[in-house]
Amino acid sequence: MRTFSILLSCMFLIGYAGGNVETPVSPAAEGVVSINFDDGFESSFVNGMPIIDAAGLKTTQFIITQKLGLESYISSGQMFAMQANGHEIAAHTRTHPHLSTLTDAQQHDKIASTRSAFEGRATSRNF
Ligand SMILES: [Zn+2]
Repeated sequence: MRTFSILLSCMFLIGYAGGNVETPVSPAAEGVVSINFDDGFESSFVNGMPIIDAAGLKTTQFIITQKLGLESYISSGQMFAMQANGHEIAAHTRTHPHLSTLTDAQQHDKIASTRSAFEGRATSRNF
């Protein structure tokens, strides 16, 4: 975690800014970094969020909805707490299947069902 914190500090020193779709960065930034967390692991909330929040950055969290609340994954409450703090919540399917192995109808079902799992509270159109 110390390395991650140092990396973020260096990013600011050279003029880079972080942002997501919901929180765009200033056009004056030297460059832009998008920080994404994959799958909704609890470690991203417990270890990553304190560092990210201290740096004033906003992330995109790609959440597997059927994993919410399972061991090693964030809870729904943690997900909505991140969203309330300005982090973008992105749908990442319900079960994380390999979409390229599914039919068009199956892909549509996997993606559309994720949106319903968020109860209309997710902010992103990303997968
Ligand atoms: Zn993933």
